[in-house]
Amino acid sequence: MTSTLHATPTPYSPAAKTALAWTHGARFLTTASQLDQLPTAELPEIAFVGRSNAGKSTAINRLAQQKRLAFASRTPGRTQHLNVFEVGPKDAADTLFVDLPGYGYAAVERSAKLRWQQVMSDYLQLRRPLHGVVLMIDSRLGFTDLDRRLLALIEPRIVNGEVRLLALLTKSDKLNRSQAQASLLAAQAVLAEVTTEASDISVTLFSALNRQGLGDVAEAVYGWTHAGAAGLPVPADDGAADGPAGAGAEAAGPTDPV
Ligand code: GDP
Repeated sequence: MTSTLHATPTPYSPAAKTALAWTHGARFLTTASQLDQLPTAELPEIAFVGRSNAGKSTAINRLAQQKRLAFASRTPGRTQHLNVFEVGPKDAADTLFVDLPGYGYAAVERSAKLRWQQVMSDYLQLRRPLHGVVLMIDSRLGFTDLDRRLLALIEPRIVNGEVRLLALLTKSDKLNRSQAQASLLAAQAVLAEVTTEASDISVTLFSALNRQGLGDVAEAVYGWTHAGAAGLPVPADDGAADGPAGAGAEAAGPTDPV
């Protein structure tokens, strides 16, 4: 498992810049309330999931460098939908970002909640183009029961390497250094339970506010759908906490045994 702990945001590596230029091009494509309404082009898909209020919309907006892109998911009628963004050249999108509405939102009526849970679990368990999952975890709360249930849902596809996983410990700007370290260790312990030889799992502290981890996230996600792309870094060793600028930024490397 790779993980990163940056005391302060590091300058972006050339690979992170390439990846960010790519994520910045994300644009809204469509919305779907059930799987058969999703695009059929079979582009690789990356799902963004997390508990309500974990910071998912803010993270997507930051990746896309657009103020309100993912908040479109909040507009009436779209809250219980999969919201799909395309990424890549304007006339030749190469990846879809799929924003799954936050789970565990108490105000949602029970029947709607159950229906939604079904759509979400079907998507995560069955959707063939799904390449990777970016899971937002509030760094102050760590993995809750709901997060563990979501992890269990995708576990079969994670352990065999079919679906990659990046856990973002969000709002890391609210933690001091030792709290950040503790948050990272706790998340690693949970993720170790689903780590295998074949799995591709990483975890990073993330702040949309001060951009900690932003380059790592862009690189990881870009790497998932552009394997072997020119300009990607040779997978680095685990980002050392006190390493030189950029050392920890190359988080898209192979998983280390935990
Ligand atoms: P979502 O429900 O997961 O989409 O969560 P939002 O993106 O709407 O964020 C929930 C709350 O957390 C909002 O008040 C955000 O302003 C706040 N938030 C999101 N990301 C960060 C962050 O990196 N740092 C801090 N301090 N607050 C954040």
